[in-house]
Amino acid sequence: MTEAQEANGPLTRAWASSFLDPGHARDEALKALDHVAAGSADAAWGFWLLALADGRMGALQAAKGTLQPARLLFVQHASTRGQAMCDELEALLALEAGNPARAREIHEAIDAEEDPGYRPLDRFVAHHTRALTARQLGEHEWALTHFYEALEASEDSGNAVAHATALCNLGGMHQELFDLEDARVYSEKALTAARQSGAKRLVTTAAALLIVIHHAAGRLTEATEMARFLMEHPELQLPGALAAVAVPLALAHYAAGDIDRAEAWLEGGSHANATHVDGTAFWAWLSARCLMHRGEFALARDLARRTLTARQDSELPYHRMKLMHAAADASEALADYPAALALHRQAQALYEELVDHGLRARNRALQAAHDYARVERELAHAQRSRMEAESDRRRLADLNRALEAKVAENELLQAKLREQVLRDPLTGLHNRRYLFEMAPGLLELARQQRQPLSVVLIDLDHFKALNDTQGHAAGDVMLQRLAQVLGATARRQDIVCRYGGEEFVVVMPDLDGEHALDAIERMLQSFGQERVEFRRKRLPAVTFSAGVASYPLHGDRLEHLLGRADKALYRAKERGRSRIEVAEHTGFATLT
Ligand code: GH3
Ligand code: MG
Ligand code: MG
Repeated sequence: MTEAQEANGPLTRAWASSFLDPGHARDEALKALDHVAAGSADAAWGFWLLALADGRMGALQAAKGTLQPARLLFVQHASTRGQAMCDELEALLALEAGNPARAREIHEAIDAEEDPGYRPLDRFVAHHTRALTARQLGEHEWALTHFYEALEASEDSGNAVAHATALCNLGGMHQELFDLEDARVYSEKALTAARQSGAKRLVTTAAALLIVIHHAAGRLTEATEMARFLMEHPELQLPGALAAVAVPLALAHYAAGDIDRAEAWLEGGSHANATHVDGTAFWAWLSARCLMHRGEFALARDLARRTLTARQDSELPYHRMKLMHAAADASEALADYPAALALHRQAQALYEELVDHGLRARNRALQAAHDYARVERELAHAQRSRMEAESDRRRLADLNRALEAKVAENELLQAKLREQVLRDPLTGLHNRRYLFEMAPGLLELARQQRQPLSVVLIDLDHFKALNDTQGHAAGDVMLQRLAQVLGATARRQDIVCRYGGEEFVVVMPDLDGEHALDAIERMLQSFGQERVEFRRKRLPAVTFSAGVASYPLHGDRLEHLLGRADKALYRAKERGRSRIEVAEHTGFATLT
């Protein structure tokens, strides 16, 4: 295929639409086959695209049949890239047929050969398939890594639908790993990208995913809002799409206290295709909750227990945990306390496992954010993408404001439990535990990438005096306001946490002491301009002092850096407060 043909031929259109809804992709592939010369390399690609579309429609035998002429032609034309892509597709078909081990074998065979000269969309297909394989084999971190690679490849390719697909997969994967923050970010981006590129099937998937994510994070209003969006915009989706996301829709209604409609969705929809948003355990959990609402505790308990036994390890831990809680609550209502206690314990063990997964996934996302920030500096169109993100956020905020939902107490408790582990309740910032979990990973990353990293310790000035004159509650309001200022001024890849009392820590990847000082200086100025009111009275202005220490100049471990930042902070206090000092240099390594 020459570059010119590639730029405007029917094959290009077929490629461009090959990640759209498969029916559409199949039509385009057939059209392309009509136009290309029989027996040409272009014809091979036409067959390949047709096989891809068939495979995605679940017609596995047809896909295998079509793959044969594609492969033969690629061999005739000595196209190693084409032959390797036939192998990739065969792996995808093995996966669709429920055989991830076979898919893995094929991948390993491809990777053992020389580089087949893949283009960006080829790389997207390759990583996407490897990620799905790893996920089915329970190898979460590999799956996440390949999904990120697929995202990068989709960006390079300029194919908007592939990009939306990659975003949606990352949202789903972070959700599976219980990293709800990044799950939300990627799923919201996926929804926007799906709408913009007209990928109707993805609109449904991304919005349903957001229902589940919002619910798991205790944002019930947003969950209900997303359900409403799905139901009110059939024109953005494929016909009949909602049946495939009946369980998330039921969840949204349940969260809003509308048990009748929740049950209607649970009965009407399918839950047999156990994808990540629509598994059997998820369905059974919600059904059990609805039964309990109606006082049918024995039925609820039996359903929950039966499902737990029947679907041992084949379900997501999060859904199993919810199901265990439901079984426990039903047992308790039936006065079977020993069973309730045992189930609660099992659920707690799963919960701890989930938090662990969530932290690791968050780490990976921070790494991605960090990589992205680097690329962003180099690319001129960074500005535009930021503006798009801003308008996405505004649009979602508008959507979110429209509806009020009733709060189900049980769900809120669950969300709070998770929050307590990693967040400070007064300010909503991350806490010290989170800092100590995340910092080693960020420092390691800084080392690998030969980038600096700064740690800033911030302490309010004369805060005791404010408490003494205005009261402790006024002091709390001031702490909250500082948290807001720090949170709003920090970049996405920064970690801002309440370290304790009136002390805060900001970790700033990529910034050396001097640049961190500039950033904190801006925070200090911005905080100085705040008008803080308490009980309708304006509080006196408060300042803070800060100490900065940086990797590698002042140490290579969080503890060292905090120690050095503390000394610098002490100097800032001595020199009159409301100022920032950088730690002194004492012969540690420099970046080369
Ligand atoms: P300096 O400028 O030297 O830091 O003076 P300071 O008064 O800020 O320092 P000191 O360490 O003497 O006082 C810290 C105060 O912070 C004392 C404590 O009551 C207050 N504090 C700590 N945690 C909280 C909190 O959660 N809420 C409120 N309102 N005050 C808090
Ligand atoms: Mg202090
Ligand atoms: Mg203080």
